Amino acid sequence: MSPSEAFDPDILALPLYDNIHRALAADIGEWCGDRAEAWAAMDTGDPAAVGRTMLTELGRSGWLRHLGPDQPGPDTRALCLRRQALAYHEDLADFTYSIQELVATAISRHGTAEQRHRELPGLADGTRAGALALSEPGAGSDLAAAVFEAIPDGDGFVLNGTKTWIAQGDIADLCVVLARTGDGPGPLGLTAFLVDARAAGLRAEPIGAIAPRSWAELTFTDVRVGSEAVLGERGQGLVVALDVLERARTSVAGAALGFGRRAFRLARGHARTRKAYGGRLADLQLVRASLAKMDVELSAAALLTSRAAWATDLGHDYAKHASTAKLYATEAAGEIVDRAVQIFGAAGLVAGSPMERLYRQVRSLRIYEGPSEVIEMTIADAL
Ligand SMILES: Cc1cc2nc3c(=O)[nH]c(=O)nc-3n(C[C@H](O)[C@H](O)[C@H](O)COP(=O)(O)OP(=O)(O)OC[C@H]3O[C@@H](n4cnc5c(N)ncnc54)[C@H](O)[C@@H]3O)c2cc1C
Repeated sequence: MSPSEAFDPDILALPLYDNIHRALAADIGEWCGDRAEAWAAMDTGDPAAVGRTMLTELGRSGWLRHLGPDQPGPDTRALCLRRQALAYHEDLADFTYSIQELVATAISRHGTAEQRHRELPGLADGTRAGALALSEPGAGSDLAAAVFEAIPDGDGFVLNGTKTWIAQGDIADLCVVLARTGDGPGPLGLTAFLVDARAAGLRAEPIGAIAPRSWAELTFTDVRVGSEAVLGERGQGLVVALDVLERARTSVAGAALGFGRRAFRLARGHARTRKAYGGRLADLQLVRASLAKMDVELSAAALLTSRAAWATDLGHDYAKHASTAKLYATEAAGEIVDRAVQIFGAAGLVAGSPMERLYRQVRSLRIYEGPSEVIEMTIADAL
C-alpha cells in the first residue's frame, strides 16, 4: 500500500490544513503502510491482547506523545488525520488510539497540574491504558440518568454500580468514571473520578463485539477513592463528559473517512479486475454510478470533517460543525461499505476478508459518542 492511500491529496492541499498536517499525514500513512501486512495477518481472537500490543506499538512509535502533560494544546486536524490513517489500515489500531486520546483529553482539560503530571505520562508512552466509563445499563444516550453512585466517606468516596460498553475496560490501568454524588436523577449531582483500574472491588467482564475489540462491563463494589480522585469540580461531571465527547466528535468522522476510503479503493480495484459480460465490472454503468456516488460522499465527508477540525483549532464555534461532520461521515461510511460489499458480490461476504471485516467494523460509528438520532437533535437545536 502506498503511504498516501488513506488520504485525498486534493483535500490535504486546501488552506484548511498547514504543512505540519501534510507532513503528519505522510508520516502516519508510511508508518501504517509498513505494518499493513503484519496487521492483516494478526489473530484478533483475543482483542484484549491485541489492544495491549497496539498500545505498546503506538506508544513506542511516538504516536501518543502529544498526550503528555507539557505538550502544546490539542490539534484536532492532526487527531482526525491520525484516526483516518489508522482506521484505513486497522480498526483495532484506531480503536486503541481513540480511547487513549479521549481519556487524556478529560485529564488535560479538567485535571489539576498534579493529576496531569501523575496520569498523562503513562498514557502518552503507551505503558498505561485508559478507559472512559460513562455508559450504564440504564443510561447511554441519556447520561443524565446515570445512577452509579459515589457516596462521601471520610475524606474520600465509596463507588458502587455498573458501567457498560467500556472500550479498553478489560485492559485499563486507569478509568475516568462518571458517578452520582448528589441527589438524582438529573444532570446535576454527577462528578467525574480518576480510578485505578486495579482497585479492590473493581471487576471487568469482557463483552464480545460484532468486530472484536477490547470492550467490557465494569462492576464496582465498595471501591474506595480519596478526594484527590475527583476530576474537575464536584457536581460538574456531566460537563466534563460532554466536553470530552464534543471535542472527540469530529475525530469519529475522521475514522469514518478511513473506513470509507478503504472500502472504496478495494471496490474500485475489484471492479477494474473482475471479468463480466465480456468486459469488466467497472465497465457496467450501474457499477460506475455506484463508484461515483461513493466518491462524492467521500469528498463531502472529508470537507465537512476538515471544516469542523479547522474551526475547532482556530477557536471558532465548532459544535454544530462537529455534529454535522460526525453524522454525515459515519452514515456515508456505512453506505459506502455496503455498496463496496455489493460490488464484491459473494466474495465480499467471506468471513475474515477485508470487505467483510469493514462491514462489521464500521457499524459502531453510528452509535458510539452519540447515536445519529441524538446528533440530529443537537444540529436541530443549533438551527
Ligand atoms: C464500540 C462501542 C464502544 C463504546 N465505548 C464506550 C466507552 O468507552 N465508554 C462509554 O461510556 N460508553 C461506550 N459506548 C457506549 C455508547 O456511548 C452508547 O452505546 C451510546 O451512548 C448509546 O447508548 P445506548 O447504547 O445505551 O443506546 P440508547 O441510549 O438506549 O439508545 C438506543 C437508540 O435509541 C435511539 N435514540 C436514543 N436517543 C434518542 C433521541 N434523543 N432521539 C431519537 N432517538 C434516540 C438511537 O437510535 C439509539 O441508537 C460504546 C459503544 C460502542 C458501540
